[in-house]
Amino acid sequence: MPSIIKSLHSVQILDSRGNPTVSVRAELEDGSIGLASVPSGASTGEFEAVELRDGDKSVYRGKGVLGAVKNVNTKLKEALVGQDASDQALVDKTMLELDGTKNKGSIGANAILGVSLAVAHAAAKSKKIELFQYLGNGSHLPVPLVNVINGGAHANNSLDIQEFMLVPHGADTFSDAVRISAEIFHALGALLSSDGYNTGVGDEGGYAPSFESTDLAFDYLQKAIEKAGYKLGQEVSLALDVASSEFFDKSEGKYFFKKSSGEKLNSEQMVELYSSWINKYPLVSIEDALDENDWDGWKKLTTAIGDKVQLVGDDLFVTNVERINRGIKEGIANSVLVKLNQIGSLSETLSSIETASGAGYTNVISHRSGETADTTISDLAVATNAGQIKTGSMCRGERIEKYNRLLWIEDKLGADAKYVNPFK
Ligand code: PGA
Ligand code: ZN
Repeated sequence: MPSIIKSLHSVQILDSRGNPTVSVRAELEDGSIGLASVPSGASTGEFEAVELRDGDKSVYRGKGVLGAVKNVNTKLKEALVGQDASDQALVDKTMLELDGTKNKGSIGANAILGVSLAVAHAAAKSKKIELFQYLGNGSHLPVPLVNVINGGAHANNSLDIQEFMLVPHGADTFSDAVRISAEIFHALGALLSSDGYNTGVGDEGGYAPSFESTDLAFDYLQKAIEKAGYKLGQEVSLALDVASSEFFDKSEGKYFFKKSSGEKLNSEQMVELYSSWINKYPLVSIEDALDENDWDGWKKLTTAIGDKVQLVGDDLFVTNVERINRGIKEGIANSVLVKLNQIGSLSETLSSIETASGAGYTNVISHRSGETADTTISDLAVATNAGQIKTGSMCRGERIEKYNRLLWIEDKLGADAKYVNPFK
């Protein structure tokens, strides 16, 4: 068999925030090589799989991943050398069994995911096809949710809401969507600069101005879209990732807008706030509108506006089939944010995507705020026909790499490439 795993090797590298992360190289008997690097979040969900960190405060401020790297170079390597790389399900199952915990806390989700992805890359090489062709038979380029204003845990400014995104759903093609987004990103920069706001960027490449109110962010986005020559709501709409678990005060059971207005709102008041926003602004998607444990609030939110707007569960679902199934059963949210490292293997990620789409939920494939140049998510988005991707702003190399990979995939697909508006 040509696709037998010959060796696995891991190295500690740095992510886009200058923190250590795991990189893995898989080599097959036929010489095929797969490389993958693991991303890392800042506003991580409580129920995510465990990212193994060394914790020695004197080295990389405790963020080293040499333990996870060692697990790849010893335990995972011993278990997997000699296995068939093209049997992804078995490769992943072997690692899960070896780990033996529910949250991958023994070997580390970062170690397991690095191997899982590197093996997939190598197997695709061995078959002499591209990763997106190896992972599925999709031909839909995703509509990007382009994060052009950063707040929350991703920026040191006055915004509690983590991400304000452009949704160029009215474009004819993916490359047009990228062009439109870049033009608006630059128009926004010019507007901010001429009004005296800082145009430094946050972790995902969006501007991070200290606005006097949340509504100002909406105003500037709308102005920038129009200034760049696009029709609000028809060609380009808006999306939010509130990442509200980051500012939910557990002791009071309230959402505390501590960076901006200082207000404290309960779940019902949050639902009212979102209802007012969807009436005022061309908002098509809201992610993590409520806390990861506030299932009752989520139910109220979904009942109130779930038929008008995409409600995405990120920290709520953590790409975990059990939590997604609970959401489906209880009629909570209508969309899943898909992050490979939240669950920690490719096979489990693919089942999350299937579970969600089987129930009529949309999937939004996502990067993390700490990224590398790895572009696996671009291939995953096309392979599964997910329809949407969230991979940051129109600057910062680690974000742009994902868009650039999608532009290559679009070119490769040629006349077969589709770009479909999921918000019609
Ligand atoms: P994170 O942010 O990677 O810091 O979790 C991304 C998101 O919340 O979607
Ligand atoms: Zn999120």
